[in-house]
Amino acid sequence: MLDKKTLIDWDKRYLWHPFTQMKDWLAEEPIIIERGEGAHLIDTEGNHYIDGIASMWTNVHGHNRKEINDALKAQIDKIAHSTLLGYSNVPAIELAKKLVELTPRGLKKVFYSDNGTTSVEIALKMAFQYWQHKGETERKIFVHLDNAYHGDTIGAMSIGGVDVFRKAYDHLLFETVSVPAPYIYRCPIGDDPQVVREYCLTEMEKALSQHRERVAGIILEPLIQGAGGMIVAPEGFLKGVETLARKYDTLLILDEVMTGFGRTGRMWACEYENVVPDILCTAKGLTAGYLPLAATLTSDEIYNAFLGEYKQLKTLFHGHTFTGNQLGCAVALANIEIFENENLIEKIQPTIEHFEHRLHEFYSLAHVGDVRVCGLAAGVELVRDKTTKEEYPFEEQVGIQICKEAVRRGAILRPLVNTIVLIPPLQISISELDQLLDIVYASIEKITFEPFDE
Ligand code: PLP
Repeated sequence: MLDKKTLIDWDKRYLWHPFTQMKDWLAEEPIIIERGEGAHLIDTEGNHYIDGIASMWTNVHGHNRKEINDALKAQIDKIAHSTLLGYSNVPAIELAKKLVELTPRGLKKVFYSDNGTTSVEIALKMAFQYWQHKGETERKIFVHLDNAYHGDTIGAMSIGGVDVFRKAYDHLLFETVSVPAPYIYRCPIGDDPQVVREYCLTEMEKALSQHRERVAGIILEPLIQGAGGMIVAPEGFLKGVETLARKYDTLLILDEVMTGFGRTGRMWACEYENVVPDILCTAKGLTAGYLPLAATLTSDEIYNAFLGEYKQLKTLFHGHTFTGNQLGCAVALANIEIFENENLIEKIQPTIEHFEHRLHEFYSLAHVGDVRVCGLAAGVELVRDKTTKEEYPFEEQVGIQICKEAVRRGAILRPLVNTIVLIPPLQISISELDQLLDIVYASIEKITFEPFDE
């Protein structure tokens, strides 16, 4: 292997990192990960770190899991890739059947792509074109939550709401209707969850009523908004959105890219409120964090609307080179097999309970304003002043400083501005979880310490 100095030199010379101000990157010495083992990442110098963000919210059973490695090796000995355009392949067929069985009733067809963003982009195209085929040609706009994040293509950014991510591309984005997200901690009308829920549902209903017959669909992340700040919705909000979608006869699209595959403590977040979407997007945990694969699932009603004579051009004009890739599908099947064999959803319940319990302790820190947790996903929001909820200025990079401190102490994290995100692999052990939480606690304490704190 190349020595670390050369790797750093080549990294800085040839690589452009995602969502990164490269000027800052060039000024620092990066950690270069070489291996993974369970909940740990190991760098080129042999240092171990707990993977506190499950490698961008993807990892399920830990790194280097034998059964998944074996499935990958077995598949690669047959074939790595052949196209799904005009032909089919074995694992893509098997996985499609499995996903239909695994997702809420009513979702009957699977359309593959490569990542969360494309699964959302496909959902938007499906919904839009469905209405065109149904003759409701004015249904062209989507309703979304105001701090949503659904990915980075032009379509996915259009239905997003995190300003820092999309501001630079404003002119490229299409028209949408943005409605308030149920951000209990910072809701303008107070922090009673039920009041926040009713307020947000009323605002959504106003938007649906105002744009009646123009709305192609409502899109949201069920239960918890991830990149929007780990914002947990009040109980009943999701069910309320489903009721509105049905009342206004529009489509409900659930982005389960982050929430799916056990992250919230059920296989799908929408199971908690017995909600059945018209379209569901999944990625990240689909391959247990191994390979880029995504799927958009939909109903027979939507699928059937695309059937017609070739010359009618009712086809869903979408497809990527690696759509339905065999390696990804084989790995996803092995992932699901572990879920089933280990009864994983049951197995992780004590871990979730412990996580919630321990996170509550963070309120005793002087600058922790809000702790939000949903299954094995959490956000710890830091504030300059707890009483006024005054935010730390963006440019102070408090979240980034805390993550740097955590790395020095042996945990890998990545913040969302002033919110520290905790999304460990689902199969992290309780003692590893304790180590991670101890590191995060100490890092917050150190970085936010001010001599005048009480
Ligand atoms: N949707 C949600 C809810 C996400 O959290 C993400 C990524 O974090 C995406 C979509 C985009 O997924 P990807 O980064 O795989 O394109």
